[in-house]
Amino acid sequence: RAKEQRGSLSFFSDDMTVAVQQRLAMEQSLRQALERQEFCLYYQPQWSTDGGHLTGVEALIRWQHPDRGMIPPAAFIPVAEQSGLIGQIGRWVLQEACRQVARWQAAGVPVPRVAVNVSPQQLHYHSLVDELAAALEESGIEPERLELEVTESALMSPGVNAEDMLQALREQGVRLAIDDFGTGYSSLAYLKRFPLDLLKIDKSFTDDLLGSKEAHAIVETIILLGHRLGLDVLAEGVETPAQQQALEQLACDHIQGYLMSRPLPVVELERLLRDAHVD
Ligand code: C2E
Ligand code: CA
Ligand code: CA
Ligand code: CA
Repeated sequence: RAKEQRGSLSFFSDDMTVAVQQRLAMEQSLRQALERQEFCLYYQPQWSTDGGHLTGVEALIRWQHPDRGMIPPAAFIPVAEQSGLIGQIGRWVLQEACRQVARWQAAGVPVPRVAVNVSPQQLHYHSLVDELAAALEESGIEPERLELEVTESALMSPGVNAEDMLQALREQGVRLAIDDFGTGYSSLAYLKRFPLDLLKIDKSFTDDLLGSKEAHAIVETIILLGHRLGLDVLAEGVETPAQQQALEQLACDHIQGYLMSRPLPVVELERLLRDAHVD
């Protein structure tokens, strides 16, 4: 009652204060998390569509909070992006993924290609190219082991010269993938301008693949388009054998999803890498 009587304006500002305070608190704990090294990477395997070969893994960040347990990226990446901390976090992810590849190589573990998510903000800074070069140099890994995932909306965002940026990244020898393909404000024209290797079909299309003729037509068309442009195509979020079969029929190259494997901590992934056919 009391709140209503105070009127909507003060009610609104109270809410704002709480939201701002929460954000500041989150920013503060993210800074600490970086210092205290509370982040870690999980790795989700990617497979040939028939499931026979493990063709890569995607690095997905996790925050192991000392009190709150494992925090998923959706709960902190947006704050990291708003506060600019994503620059430091993104650099850590890049370094850590490269170091992990180097550790696997040293331990004689069959090494898959590792995909790393690049946030839109990282594309705004030319330092990404230098950071990539430094991470590759420090770890001594072959650049073609690494794949960078960028979203279409990041490429279309104002102030980003995506063509130059991707070209510069590509010159370092890494592979480039478009993440969440089909969901952004996409212009198909960019597909021929940009030096890409892989299209990742968004999970929302995989979800509807069997239930909707339209989704099926879209997936079929993305696969044909990708192949015509010389790109590999991967479907995300594959959860059922029926989806896998449909994707096999459509000649999709790779699948990723809970049906095959969830994102795994390093030790569990290593076990899989020693057993699976790694391409
Ligand atoms: P994304 O890049 O689209 O990653 C795929 C997400 O879908 C992951 O969630 C993964 O666990 C989940 N997923 C994979 N297969 C399935 C499935 O079959 N069913 C369902 N329901 N989900 C599936 P996660 O790890 O929570 O990551 C969420 C998002 O957070 C990522 O979406 C990405 O946008 C962002 N993210 C994760 N790690 C990083 C990072 O290191 N840097 C940046 N900038 N963003 C990251
Ligand atoms: Ca991704
Ligand atoms: Ca995705
Ligand atoms: Ca997504």
